[in-house]
Amino acid sequence: MREVFLLSLGLYLIIALLFSLSFPQLILLVFIFASFDFILLNYIGKKRVREITKIKSTIKDIRKNRFTSPDEIKLGKSLVELEGDIKSMFLRTQNDIANLKKLEQVRTEFLGNVSHELRTPIFAIQGFIETLLNGAINDSKVNKNFLTKASNHTIRLNNLLNDLIDISMIESGQMKMSFRYFNIKEYMENIYNEMHPLAERKNLELFLHPIRENLKLFGDKDRLRQVIINLISNSIKYTELGKVEIIVEEENKFGKIIVRDTGIGIPEMDQSRIFERFYRVDKGRSTAVGGTGLGLAIVKHIVEAHGSQMEVTSEIGKGSEFSFKLKK
Ligand code: ADP
Repeated sequence: MREVFLLSLGLYLIIALLFSLSFPQLILLVFIFASFDFILLNYIGKKRVREITKIKSTIKDIRKNRFTSPDEIKLGKSLVELEGDIKSMFLRTQNDIANLKKLEQVRTEFLGNVSHELRTPIFAIQGFIETLLNGAINDSKVNKNFLTKASNHTIRLNNLLNDLIDISMIESGQMKMSFRYFNIKEYMENIYNEMHPLAERKNLELFLHPIRENLKLFGDKDRLRQVIINLISNSIKYTELGKVEIIVEEENKFGKIIVRDTGIGIPEMDQSRIFERFYRVDKGRSTAVGGTGLGLAIVKHIVEAHGSQMEVTSEIGKGSEFSFKLKK
């Protein structure tokens, strides 16, 4: 305001000097221009006050959650740029809130699932022990059977806890990976030898397709072992008749690891969800074969940490194929 006044005064003096105005003429000029300035400044001031009031009330409305969409925020033509900024801030905050709510829901669901999964074996163990203590311990027809069942549930509990530890380590970023090149032929043969008896016990053929002698792939050997063993044991678990194949397909820049079975298959609508924590196509069957429902969630995390992705194709009653690629 002061700047405008001083600037105007300077301008009047220059005009007076230029046009050699007399003192009354100068006073008249000052009066005319000052009145004009006053009207103009008054108009601009009022406009600014209106704009600031509008901004204040918009911010208040945002704080009180009165807007449901950014399109409802309107500041007028003169504040288009600010309006755009406020809209994008509003949108970002809305997204952040939605994400937080989703995270909270996922966390609650996860805790619910964990409690449920822990309760089942604990109740079963408790039940068997109580029955034994109440006299069944002296009944040679059932005592060994009950103890074996209780023991199986402790194994299940242990598997579940190990998987939970893995999931929490992975998701909190504490699982350290150590990537290097390794000979995939030797590596797969070791895994094959380890898994072979498991398939044999179910009368399934476990078949390792030939792999090129010096083929080297890049990854964390220990974590990948967990992935491949998980995929093979799933194939064995969910296959009653036929075979499980392990294939390493060599591509230009990658090696593709494939585990294929002739098992029960996975319905199409479930295929995208089986990598979620605790998602099972058939809960009864998974529990019966000792599944925790966390295996594929861990597999997906580890494969993604290798910059790769899990792929699945499956047909009900015909079998399933799980695969992922590793850098050569
Ligand atoms: P689980 O411990 O229940 O096996 P996973 O996370 O390993 O949990 O697998 C999730 C679900 O995906 C399983 O419950 C099962 O329904 C389905 N599934 C996984 N692998 C196979 C397979 N090879 N054949 C058929 N179904 C499978």
